[in-house]
Amino acid sequence: MLTANDPNRKSWVKTSDTTDFPIQNLPFGVFLTEDNLVTIGTRIGDTAIDLGGLHQLGFFNDIELPSDVFLQDTLNDFITLGRPTWRKVRNRVAEIFDIENKELQNNEDYKEHILFPVDSVQMLMPVFTQDYTDFYSSKEHAMNVGIMFRGKENALMPNWVHMPIGYHGRSSSIIVSGENIRRPKGQTMPKDADKPVFGPCKALDIELEMAFITSDGKHIGESINVNEAEDYIFGMVLFNDWSARDIQKWEYQPLGPFLGKSFASSISPWVVTLDALEPYRTASPVQDPKPLENLICEGDRTFDINLDVFLETEEGVETKISASNFKHLYWNISQQLAHHTSNGCPINVGDMMGSGTISGPTEDSFGSMLELSWGGTKPIPLNDGSTRTYLKDGDSISIKGFSDNGELRIGFGEVRTKILPSN
Ligand code: CA
Repeated sequence: MLTANDPNRKSWVKTSDTTDFPIQNLPFGVFLTEDNLVTIGTRIGDTAIDLGGLHQLGFFNDIELPSDVFLQDTLNDFITLGRPTWRKVRNRVAEIFDIENKELQNNEDYKEHILFPVDSVQMLMPVFTQDYTDFYSSKEHAMNVGIMFRGKENALMPNWVHMPIGYHGRSSSIIVSGENIRRPKGQTMPKDADKPVFGPCKALDIELEMAFITSDGKHIGESINVNEAEDYIFGMVLFNDWSARDIQKWEYQPLGPFLGKSFASSISPWVVTLDALEPYRTASPVQDPKPLENLICEGDRTFDINLDVFLETEEGVETKISASNFKHLYWNISQQLAHHTSNGCPINVGDMMGSGTISGPTEDSFGSMLELSWGGTKPIPLNDGSTRTYLKDGDSISIKGFSDNGELRIGFGEVRTKILPSN
């Protein structure tokens, strides 16, 4: 039972009406307190909650949990316990912070040790990720890029409509919101030049994505069925998959993305569980042609999540440059995971699976500057009167995401990263 999702529940922890983190969200993250304590926690409104402390005080005694499961610097051990345990813990946290429940509410001493203003804690990488895979699952994005790189006739490769295309990325350069990145350097072939050059990237871009985080999968040689895939998915984060378009363009054939992608990917720090997203479940776009049998899933397997991208200049002027939605993705997360393991490739706890750039059908919903500026030919206007085709040093990008069904809003907060000059 998902008692934590009760839309009528109110918390004794004060929240604003527009918070991404009402008591019905209860995401999981890892944070560092001012006293140098690293702990696993959750969040209600602007209050970070130390789950390690709550466990030590006996608040989870009715759930079978290792005593140190929240006193870790990643969520991996907790995720390994499996979906029934994730659910029990979320339900119990909802109960502890319910406005009718006085056991913690009236204990000032306990509260002082358990609750922290979010501004006073530093969010850390929530999981240890051994492998990062990036898909390419937005038809609008694949069409736009295909038209720009290969022309309208060959925009979509013939395999694209039959399976979720993906590649293996680098987990070593996944960073958490708030960390800055350096403009990457690399080899490019300037237009009309007869030999390549090496230097700072001149076409630094974002990719508006989300990523799902897995639990342990099956043994090597076994596959995860499309209709059981959600049991192996812990939750989701916002994901900005940084891209150096000039490096990418020169290196990508014949083996695909490499150094144009591997220098950084940024994630939001709070992992929102699939359980919390349940009220926002919705249908994916109609798939025509019909997928092969192993990719056909029952019911709605995607979620209605609004995604906004903001560019802030070094001087502090902010402009919303895109507004898209997770539900536009042609291939859903269950199909992605089923396809990924269909050859018997195992997944591990903490693996990160990027959705691919999520572009919507309209020009203001494109998920990259490559598309928003149409290959650099249509500069993007900013609120200070300047324009961008690609990013400048000093620019910051933040992606925000939230679901709202009219009854309840839950969100992901943001992933925010600033671009520093090349070394
Ligand atoms: Ca990507």
